[in-house]
Amino acid sequence: MNHIWQATGVLTRGGRGLLDLLSALRQGLPSVCPLCTEDSRGGLLCQYCLAYLRRDTVLACTRCGLDISGLMQCPDCLAVPFVLEQTVCAFDYVFPGDLLIHGLKISHRVELVPALAHLLYSCWQLAAPTMLGEPCWVAVPARRASLRRRGFSPPAELCRYLGRYTSVPDWSLAVGWHAEPVPMQKQLSRHERFRAMRQAWRCDRDLAGRTVVLVDDVMTTGATLNSLAQVCLQAGAVQVFGLVLARTPYPNRLGAGLFSR
Ligand SMILES: [Zn+2]
Ligand SMILES: [Zn+2]
Repeated sequence: MNHIWQATGVLTRGGRGLLDLLSALRQGLPSVCPLCTEDSRGGLLCQYCLAYLRRDTVLACTRCGLDISGLMQCPDCLAVPFVLEQTVCAFDYVFPGDLLIHGLKISHRVELVPALAHLLYSCWQLAAPTMLGEPCWVAVPARRASLRRRGFSPPAELCRYLGRYTSVPDWSLAVGWHAEPVPMQKQLSRHERFRAMRQAWRCDRDLAGRTVVLVDDVMTTGATLNSLAQVCLQAGAVQVFGLVLARTPYPNRLGAGLFSR
C-alpha cells in the first residue's frame, strides 16, 4: 500500500480518502474483529476483545495511568511530577493488545485506525473525566524520521477518527516540534533533559479556556506527554488529559530511559 503515502511520510489526501471510504463501506456490514477474527461489525473490535482489553482503571494511578496494583506509590509520578489531570489508557502493552500496536506501528496497518480510535473513545467515555473547558483532541507529534519510516502518524490518524466519532475538534496541528530534540546525553541531569525536551515543542494556537486531550499510541514513562502538557498549559489550556492506547507496565520497563516515551 506504499503508493498511498507521500514522500514526506504523511498520508496523502487520496490515501486518507481511501481509508475513510473503506471504513464507511464496512459500517454495518459483517466483518471480522482485527484481534480474534471472530465476526464483528464494521471492522471494529468485537465485544469480547473490547471487554478483555479494556483495563481496570481502579488499579491505575489516576495521573499517569500506570497500573500500580500492589505498589505503595506510583514510581513514574515520583520521578516526574505530572501536570496531566488524568491519563486514560486502553490496555497494557502486553499480549494480546501488543499485537494491535505492532500491527499499527510496525506492519503499518493503517486500516486498524478506525477500530483503535473506537476503542480509545469507549475508554474515554467509561472514564468520564470532569472537563472544565471546551475539549479538543491533540495528537502527540511524531518525529520526522518516524514519519518517513512509517508513512503516517498513528496518533494523528487516531485523532482524526476521534474527531469523526465525536463533535470534539481535532487540533493536532496546533502543536509540533519547534526543533527536533537533540539526542539525550547521559551526562545531562534529569532536569536538563526535561528542559531540553520542553524547549523542543511549539504551540501555534491560543489554548485559553480549553481542555486539551493529548492522544498517543504508546506511553512508557509519560515524560513526553507530560512535557507536552506543560507547553499546552503555558498556551492557556485549563486542563490537559492523556488518552493512550497502550501503557507499558511497570516491571517490563525497568531500565528504560526516563525520557523515552
Ligand atoms: Zn475479537
Ligand atoms: Zn503515576
